[in-house]
Amino acid sequence: MELKICHLYPDVLNLYGDRGNILCMRRRLEWRGIGFEITELPLGVRDDLTSYDLFFIGGGQDFEQTVLLSDLSAGRAANIRSAAEDGKPFLCVCGGYQLLGAGYRTADGQMCEYTGIIDLTTEGSPDRMIGNFAFRLGAESGGSVVVGFENHGGRTRLGSGVTPLGSVLKGYGNNGSDGTEGVRWNNVYGTYSHGPVLPKNPEFCDHILGTALERKYGVRDLAPLDDRAENAAREVMLRRLHVN
Ligand code: GLN
Repeated sequence: MELKICHLYPDVLNLYGDRGNILCMRRRLEWRGIGFEITELPLGVRDDLTSYDLFFIGGGQDFEQTVLLSDLSAGRAANIRSAAEDGKPFLCVCGGYQLLGAGYRTADGQMCEYTGIIDLTTEGSPDRMIGNFAFRLGAESGGSVVVGFENHGGRTRLGSGVTPLGSVLKGYGNNGSDGTEGVRWNNVYGTYSHGPVLPKNPEFCDHILGTALERKYGVRDLAPLDDRAENAAREVMLRRLHVN
């Protein structure tokens, strides 16, 4: 078995160690003897995305989010849409999550027209939502509790009937008011969680890897790993956040 992983826009979308998500996926595959190939696709490199099994897009500052608009409209948005509609798993963090929606109006009024793949929109505000946070994944995303770090001015609202990735236990999540965090659509996982999120939450990492393996090979079974160190770190953070 082998997963071909594509890291989109590593040159412009990579905040707070987002690249650690790639390292985590890679290690957890390696430890189980599952093959992998990692391809970084920066701005401007043409590729129709059809040869990959799993995608990652990180977060960025408002400026970087405007820089990639021309690349998206030059064909990349259509390729991301096809892959997502085809059931390929995506993990998209913060700025990467926002680009799945119709658009993002930054705090200083600049409009980023995005892909519109999922019915969601984001409005920026100078009042930023920053801190460690925790949320519970929906059952379709494994149901575990995720700890992470968020720092965003954007408030995301999901369209009616769109499933959030989870529900906020502590912190802000999508907008600080409706208790939702992220989005789950097809096999796309969108989240505000930096951290990076996967090394801190091995169960969530395995859920995404399992989704990719199931789609490609029809099997989801991943041998258990020794996650005692990771889980001990999670427990510390959950206690600090007063999440029981
Ligand atoms: N610039 C966006 C915002 O402030 C995304 C931030 C991020 O990716 N951390 O909402």
